[in-house]
Amino acid sequence: MTDMTLATWTAAARDIQIEGRAFINGQYTDALSGETRPTYNPATGQLIAEVASCSPEDADIAVKYARDAFESGVWSNMPPSERKMVLVRWAELIEVYAEELALLETLDVGKPISDTLGIDAPAAARTIRWSGEAIDKVYEQIAPTPGGSLGLITRLPLGVVAAIVPWNFPLSTTAWKIAPSLATGNSVIVKPASNTPLTAIRIAELASEAGLPDGVLQVLPGPGGSLGKHLSTHMDIDGLTFTGSTPVGKMLMEYSGQSNLKRTFLELGGKSPNIIFADANLEKAATMAAMAVFFNGGQTCTAGTRLIVQDSIHDEFVAMVIEKTKSWVPGNPLDPDTALGPMVDQGQFNTVASYVAVGLSEGATLAYGGKQVMTNTGGFYHEPTIFTGVNNQMRIAQEEIFGPVMSVIKFSDAEEAVQIANDSIFGLAGAVWSENINTALKVAEKVRVGTMGINNYFGGDMTVPFGGFKQSGNGRDKSMHAFDDYTELKTTWIEFE
Ligand code: NAD
Repeated sequence: MTDMTLATWTAAARDIQIEGRAFINGQYTDALSGETRPTYNPATGQLIAEVASCSPEDADIAVKYARDAFESGVWSNMPPSERKMVLVRWAELIEVYAEELALLETLDVGKPISDTLGIDAPAAARTIRWSGEAIDKVYEQIAPTPGGSLGLITRLPLGVVAAIVPWNFPLSTTAWKIAPSLATGNSVIVKPASNTPLTAIRIAELASEAGLPDGVLQVLPGPGGSLGKHLSTHMDIDGLTFTGSTPVGKMLMEYSGQSNLKRTFLELGGKSPNIIFADANLEKAATMAAMAVFFNGGQTCTAGTRLIVQDSIHDEFVAMVIEKTKSWVPGNPLDPDTALGPMVDQGQFNTVASYVAVGLSEGATLAYGGKQVMTNTGGFYHEPTIFTGVNNQMRIAQEEIFGPVMSVIKFSDAEEAVQIANDSIFGLAGAVWSENINTALKVAEKVRVGTMGINNYFGGDMTVPFGGFKQSGNGRDKSMHAFDDYTELKTTWIEFE
């Protein structure tokens, strides 16, 4: 691990060279219009870089390169064992440049450097290596047909895939999209979130250095409403993979229907239940209940923002969670000791502040935090915040806040816990804590979410799929199941005598 300190990271931040151009057909390129958009450091509010603001015209050029690359077979027909080697080399380069990538991500998103270096950069490398190493171990199928016939079931890449990603985990979410889509032979165009484009731009160059042919991976920074919409309605893009908010995800489904029915897979928002039974290991559950909400400043789709606590231990457990929350002190994200950085920008900060006001107006009790802090830095810091006395009908229990705000709700028995957990438009993640395996399994089985933890929160690795039920989306990232989203199933029926 690194021996970097706040002083050395700060010096590195001063010296870092930042590339803000789009990456099109293997080269850094300005937007055709010459337009740029500033990107700011959430910890200081200061400008980090001007970034190309690509338009639909840039997208059309990139789509043509992507299509040409796909049709040429330079990547799509490359033997899987060779595609594997390129992806593995790319993962190695991401590891070589992990400190630079972590620093870029921290400057762009405000995530603590200990997270970007310890979690995001290694996760990106791991995802790309895993998908690369898996792809030459995938066998096709032969159907159980009658004699004299042979039914081959094969998978083919979709063709050109657009990946539209959010700002909260730019590096790792981008890797979750591009690793399986590239491994399966597609050409991919990434549109990062407008406010956090820097690491996507940099890793595209590393992919090229690893041997990925030109046009196979391109990165176009630019606005969602014009560039993102253009990609989503494009007639020559075959697949769209998206991580972001539920309202935008719904629009993308419509865009697919209005254009060419491109395969559209969505990873959307959440309001995840974290259910604590009286017989849980309360010490561990309290530590993780705080982590489940305050990690990444609550800007996490799977955040356990609804803490659902059995009434017999409610007061005792809330006191324990408040004690644990005291270690989530907002601080400079370049300090390796900081666990909680700023909100990503003024807009997100305002959203959080407005929901704190909503919670108060709905009659919830502000048990901890609730205020802006470190105002002298120019950054968008908000205290970790806990509301008690919440009922599940309140807006702070139903709507995704995407900030460090926990809503504590009481339940009396397992049936009520499940009912509250499922009373949500979302179904992304959740957890249940109980030392009784029957209680834990029964509740876990009934909660309608894509990922459920038993006696852990945020559990999981590359071997398991990730995605949502209900309005948290469709499709799956991670694991071999992700390959399904980026391939078409094809039947070839053969008859012989
Ligand atoms: P967002 O939906 O506002 O933006 C996501 C991306 O979509 C950005 O790149 C944006 O530019 C683009 N976009 C916006 N409008 C568009 C349009 N009309 N057409 C095409 N593209 C458009 O989301 P966000 O604020 O960047 O991210 C936060 C959201 O992402 C939260 O809801 C969070 O829960 C969700 N998220 C989900 C997961 C998951 O895996 N389920 C993971 C991380 C974040």
